[in-house]
Amino acid sequence: MNTEIDRQRLINTITGQLESDLFLGGVWLPIGRIGKVQAMGKEKMTTDSKTTQETKNSVEQAGIIEEKRQRLSKLAQVVAQCTKCPLHKQRTNTVPGEGNPDARIMFVGEAPGQTEDEQARPFVGQAGKLLTKIIEAMGLDRRDVFIGNILKCRPPGNRDPQTSEIVQCVDFLCEQLQIIEPEIIVALGAHAARTLLESSDSIGELRGRVHEYRPHPLAEPIKLIATYHPAYLLRNYSKDTRMRVWQDMQKVLTELGLPIPKRE
Ligand code: URA
Repeated sequence: MNTEIDRQRLINTITGQLESDLFLGGVWLPIGRIGKVQAMGKEKMTTDSKTTQETKNSVEQAGIIEEKRQRLSKLAQVVAQCTKCPLHKQRTNTVPGEGNPDARIMFVGEAPGQTEDEQARPFVGQAGKLLTKIIEAMGLDRRDVFIGNILKCRPPGNRDPQTSEIVQCVDFLCEQLQIIEPEIIVALGAHAARTLLESSDSIGELRGRVHEYRPHPLAEPIKLIATYHPAYLLRNYSKDTRMRVWQDMQKVLTELGLPIPKRE
């Protein structure tokens, strides 16, 4: 690889990160994959060569992340031009999804609602606020994960997605999954879970275990855990439903080898 290009990519990535940190007013330590890359072959290295190797790995990793970011951004431009289904006629904005281009976890909901359509961002309405709380309860930040939907345009009146719309739109999600390569997908609600698992089972039957999803037949399987949609949780805010969602999220953390924060 060209070192000058690598250096520029690293600078672009770090600058972009600092700008978004400043914008959001926070300090962010990503749960990226850099640690994993650095851990490879560690035992054989001397201190000096370890430092050099770690720098090389970090530069390489930053280049990969920057490339993923650019591919996602290009895809979002294609989504913005999409007229494949009638939903384009009523949208204010497309909502391609957002987050860490190299996320280990990808949350997938069903479709944007009114607030998402207005802001061009996923899960920013009431259900989104609850999803943010869930992510934070997991000890993570929204910027650690990637958040997307099956449909990229709002169905009128927030009605359920139609099969014809899902068929036209789902390739965008598959492409996002192939770019991001998450280790685990969290399918939020029946529509996301049924679509990705090609199942007609209820969300109650699909949650509580680890499934596998393949973006295409030859792809490495990605783990998938289904749970209740945050909007359902808002409508059924019982101790029991909250506990089930928390159990599902604990499973996600366990699958990733991440610590399970204590709940207050
Ligand atoms: N519900 C969803 O499924 N997705 C969103 O982005 C918002 C609400």
